[in-house]
Amino acid sequence: MRGARVGDYTYMTQAFTKTAKKPAATRTSPARTKAVREWKTGKAQGLQILEAPEVSRLKWLVHGFSTRSGGSSRLERTERGVKSSEEVLNLGFNEWDRPERVSANRQKFFSAVGAGKMRPVLLRQTHSDIVYLVGAANIPQGERAPQGDALITRERGVLLAVQTADCIPILLADTKNHAVAAIHSGWRGTARRIAEKTLGRMRMEFGTRPQDVIAAIGPGIGQCCYEVGHEVIKEFATIFPAAREWFDGPFDTLENGDADSNWLPWLTMRPPGHAPPAPTARLDLVAANRAILAGAGVPLKSIASSSLCTACRLDLFFSYRRERITGRMIAAIGIK
Ligand SMILES: [Zn+2]
Repeated sequence: MRGARVGDYTYMTQAFTKTAKKPAATRTSPARTKAVREWKTGKAQGLQILEAPEVSRLKWLVHGFSTRSGGSSRLERTERGVKSSEEVLNLGFNEWDRPERVSANRQKFFSAVGAGKMRPVLLRQTHSDIVYLVGAANIPQGERAPQGDALITRERGVLLAVQTADCIPILLADTKNHAVAAIHSGWRGTARRIAEKTLGRMRMEFGTRPQDVIAAIGPGIGQCCYEVGHEVIKEFATIFPAAREWFDGPFDTLENGDADSNWLPWLTMRPPGHAPPAPTARLDLVAANRAILAGAGVPLKSIASSSLCTACRLDLFFSYRRERITGRMIAAIGIK
């Protein structure tokens, strides 16, 4: 099973591993297999932090991807009629959680990545392509967070953070100009090329050249688990010439299919109400974002990506797709 190991790290709680769904057999594009490397987890203050080795080598910054356990939030679950409660590191202000616990979890995570004294910046994420520049004069805090889905800065002591639970977190580091970015890229952000737009804004603000950038694509929902319908396929096919390579399933049928669901029963000669379920294909968001970054000029060897799927690995991550009521992880990067 792909992604069964996380570096040398052995996970202690088995409760969710037992019930974890096995990933469906899937084709993996050669480009992806070749480029994926296992990431390391560091243990700090009782938390498991996922780090990209390529970024860890840059001593002028701190970074990390949070995982599920080690926090003080209590996530209630009902599985086969049995209620249970799990202590989790929820880093998002969700309805089911208490704000003071989320704040405590965030402080614990920020300290664990070595950013306890940094000023964290988070946006109100809306699946947009809005890139927000954080400078000395504009470091938004708390309730006044602006909308957007990518953050860039060259300011020291600022921690850029994006929240995810299946969407793809991407961290960028400009090794020449010492600038950083944090990006939230679900299918909408990917379709809007948010990673490429972030690089463009970094070029404009800091003179960043893509060939100097190290990128770390963090854990998100894998192709094994990410079924999408024809509306997503049509949009990707319109925007990206290489879109077909990122989908597993009946791409052509779905790309050319009429949006009107009536075509299916007609085609299969089934009476109304007896149509087969709408066909889907599985989207590889990591491959798509790798291609977008590479297309924007970031060398493939400078793009690290996690092979872990948030929906397969409920022992490690939160998955909105699988759980609905769940927590949020944070991917963070900042200049010391
Ligand atoms: Zn999966």
